[in-house]
Amino acid sequence: MEIKPSTVVYNLDLPALTELVKSWGEPAYRAKQIWQGLYKNIWINPSEFSNLPKSLREKMEANLRFDVLEPTLKLDSTDGQTRKTLFRLPDGRQVEAVLMRYDRRKTLCISTQVGCAMGCTFCATGQMGFTRHLSSGEIVAQVMYYARLLQAEGEVVTNVVLMGMGEPFHNYNNTMQAIDRLNDPEGYNFGARRFTISTSGLVPAIRQFAQEKRQINLAVSLHATEDEKRSSMMPVNKRYDIEELIAACREYVQLTGRRITFEWALIHEINDTPEEARKLSGLLKGLLCHVNAIPLNPTTGYSGQATTRERALAFKEVLEKNGIPCTIRMRRGIDIQAGCGQLAVISL
Ligand code: SAH
Ligand code: SF4
Repeated sequence: MEIKPSTVVYNLDLPALTELVKSWGEPAYRAKQIWQGLYKNIWINPSEFSNLPKSLREKMEANLRFDVLEPTLKLDSTDGQTRKTLFRLPDGRQVEAVLMRYDRRKTLCISTQVGCAMGCTFCATGQMGFTRHLSSGEIVAQVMYYARLLQAEGEVVTNVVLMGMGEPFHNYNNTMQAIDRLNDPEGYNFGARRFTISTSGLVPAIRQFAQEKRQINLAVSLHATEDEKRSSMMPVNKRYDIEELIAACREYVQLTGRRITFEWALIHEINDTPEEARKLSGLLKGLLCHVNAIPLNPTTGYSGQATTRERALAFKEVLEKNGIPCTIRMRRGIDIQAGCGQLAVISL
């Protein structure tokens, strides 16, 4: 079923909610009460707003959709700390979001699109193609779903990474609006610094993002140092090549003074050699950055193999000898297909 975007409560910012409440003949301050109920108390349906008159709760019920995401499948990894949820959207499409519990950190990996248009060969989301953008409310709702779940355990979300299904910079405005909504001090008050956006390298969007000087962390998926190889893995490279991409990254660091993260999926014999690490060191020389190396996670449509632990450590060593900090990211949730690049809608 198609629904009007303006009726999804998570699509509204406070001014829009205020207008709506006024159009119902209610005073403006009621909008703020609804806003705080939604984002401070994490109430998820009108019946919970016990501080509001019944007549207003009925108007909310009649005019607004709260249940924009229906969790249809919950999978827990055998590591006991990773949960993947499959959500059904109002039009029947589906997306996934993952909660990773570290010691103190509770990191959410959320989606920005149904599928992805970028077509990276090694990524399950890329392999499924593009269906549609998520609205800002559908992005916000993923966070609020997990915020509510954690609240019941006396916990809170500490970090949000936009590294689920989709290319966030291909859905730029909705993604930024979602972050702004979650960032509102009067509402959920989730600090910009606790978000990380990952992009496959849409250069004009990186430039725009740099100009906006936001405090959000930026990660760029690189995976290769030569255009021919990168284009064969990531078709977006044919549009914006490595030289242009790195120039935009340098511009970003210059304008914002912020460190950039480069992501590198380590694929056996393809990009995990010491030689490749040396080339990467050369490419990133003098750039305020950090490399996040992720052993490739398996996907059905790609035959490349993950690197070994020894090779990953040797790769890291070369980078560090050249002054480039590198971490090897722990693999999480592989048994439930919740690792990087493994998110695609499971057919039930
Ligand atoms: N579209 C954005 C964000 C989502 S993908 C992007 O591409 O950056 C999140 C990260 O997972 C990216 O760095 C991506 O390159 C990486 N990735 C994709 N498929 C992977 C796989 N099979 N194994 C490991 N990492 C993968
Ligand atoms: Fe899209 Fe990112 Fe997957 Fe590439 S790696 S297909 S950009 S989700």
